[in-house]
Amino acid sequence: MAAGPTYRTDRIVPEKRRAAASFGSRTDIGCLRKDNEDSLVVADPLFAVADGMGGHDSGEVASEIAIRTLLEFAPDYADGEVLGTAVVEANRAVLQAVADGTGKPGMGTTMTAAVLEGERLVIAHVGDSRAYLFYQGKLQQITRDHSLMADMIEAGQLTVEEARVHPSRSIITRALGSDPNVLPDIYEINVETGDRLLICTDGLSGMLTDDLIEKELLQEPDPQLCANNLVNAALAAGGHDNVTVVVAEVSGLSEPRQEKSVRRAKVSAAFIVLAFFMVLAVAIGGFYYYTQNSFYLAENNGRVAVYRGLPGSLFGIRISDLESMTDIKVESLQPGVANRLQEGIRVDDLDRAQELIAEYRDSTRSAATPERDPSGGGGSDAQGSAASGGSRSGG
Ligand code: CA
Repeated sequence: MAAGPTYRTDRIVPEKRRAAASFGSRTDIGCLRKDNEDSLVVADPLFAVADGMGGHDSGEVASEIAIRTLLEFAPDYADGEVLGTAVVEANRAVLQAVADGTGKPGMGTTMTAAVLEGERLVIAHVGDSRAYLFYQGKLQQITRDHSLMADMIEAGQLTVEEARVHPSRSIITRALGSDPNVLPDIYEINVETGDRLLICTDGLSGMLTDDLIEKELLQEPDPQLCANNLVNAALAAGGHDNVTVVVAEVSGLSEPRQEKSVRRAKVSAAFIVLAFFMVLAVAIGGFYYYTQNSFYLAENNGRVAVYRGLPGSLFGIRISDLESMTDIKVESLQPGVANRLQEGIRVDDLDRAQELIAEYRDSTRSAATPERDPSGGGGSDAQGSAASGGSRSGG
């Protein structure tokens, strides 16, 4: 039966991108037509139908070109703008096919395309195929038909029932393949797990009322069986047109969200590690700068020496270098100064270090003169001076 140009694909979608929807689809030539001009694509998270027109086999060419182009350009995430761009590309491809002779003048197609990612649904729509949402047992039409009947119903000139049997019921006001500037309507909807998306050509919605379609959805929860039942019901009602149905259930919400939160967590962890190393680098740089501008006096082989850096060690590593040696013997200095030199006497800069060294030198000379009088005033003064310099600088 479904010998028409049904275009199905198992486009490879990365596992992490899969919206985890369960879905089903079916297309049928119907009871009266010689060709099936409908095309569809079911490539989770992309779902679409296209209803070709033009006669003499050209409708099926138009709908298939449109679906192939959609498949090429559609996003694998719920972005209405990008999906709309893909439908614009499909229009361009159909027009191009007419221009280069691949297709026939006057051919065109509808297109209702959806990307269902978790609980986010986006739809791009041109023509009178339809997208419905089955929500808490109620069927709601999402898309607005681009058709003369829809315009007349909105204008209050017709009822839905009158439109169903109106002689002009197949006139559509917007299609792919006629206007190079055609723009699709874009719908962006938050849906819920358990909702079902129904996309169909007018071979279904023209044969069954919304109430009957709703009844089929209520009776059969399995998307594929439901798609079968809907097509069978359209055929039982007369099957005047090609009929194509896609049913996709909103499910598997937790997976994409979890994946996103894991990714966010990884990013956060990476950022913290990066920030830690940046702070560490700044700290090491700052510490290095600090040590290179710090000086102290200490004993080296019994003599006073000047060191660049800090006394002691950090994690067992010396953090100072010998800057210069003096000829001043530590043993010749006052005991208090000698003791302090064991720990290191920190000074503000090299100038202050030279001042202290000069004072030590003076103290040893004056101490040497009254050698037999170690309590002499010169020595005491020198010690006091040295001690004060050391304590001021070293804290
Ligand atoms: Ca049709």
